[in-house]
Amino acid sequence: MRLILLGPPGAGKGTQAQRIVEKYGIPQLSTGDMLRAAVAAETDVGKRAKAVMDAGKLVSDDIVIAIVSERIDQPDCEKGFILDGFPRTLVQADATEAMLAAKGLDLSVVIELKVNDKELVRRVSGRYSCAQCGSVYHDSDKRPAAEGVCDKCGSTHFKRRPDDNAETMTQRLEVYYKETSPLIGFYYAKGRLKSVDGMADMDVVTGDIEAILGAL
Ligand code: AMP
Repeated sequence: MRLILLGPPGAGKGTQAQRIVEKYGIPQLSTGDMLRAAVAAETDVGKRAKAVMDAGKLVSDDIVIAIVSERIDQPDCEKGFILDGFPRTLVQADATEAMLAAKGLDLSVVIELKVNDKELVRRVSGRYSCAQCGSVYHDSDKRPAAEGVCDKCGSTHFKRRPDDNAETMTQRLEVYYKETSPLIGFYYAKGRLKSVDGMADMDVVTGDIEAILGAL
């Protein structure tokens, strides 16, 4: 199963991808996570990407296409994978088609998560995560059971993404509507698009996604 989760920042792609990972045993390929790891490791790519990411803009197509192409050659992607945050431009979408065709693979489905802007800003501005295991929390929606202690690993260190603030979020949304939303039409025209109401409760969204995946 090879699928793309498509949607604006804060739509729930990462959360839902984690649930698909657990249920179907295929890896989540998040270009945002890969780039953040490159920034933390201060690699050449990381050094080039940092300022662009902090400003809420897009890293160059060449860089992300190369990262994904390399990643899907890894053995854990043999049974399939979830693309989260990629492709994000029409150039990347075309490159994905070419990349998969060259490897003799095809795309199972593209699932779009629909959420309105006000809710996206609310979700992203309250988001933080465990610095140790990456579990995601929210100031009002999902606090740890014991205040200041990660439910999953017990760590007391948390972090916020530098781009998860209302100001950068405005820029990220602009970029989404300009560069990424045309992909909805691109995949609809190919008969691959399924849309899900991302405003619904998290578990309902998971159920809707599982129904789509179950019908493949
Ligand atoms: P995300 O974690 O998906 O919200 O991505 C965080 C940031 O990483 C984005 O705002 C971009 O700067 C960069 N990024 C992630 N994925 C891509 C991509 N497919 N193309 C270009 N830039 C990306």
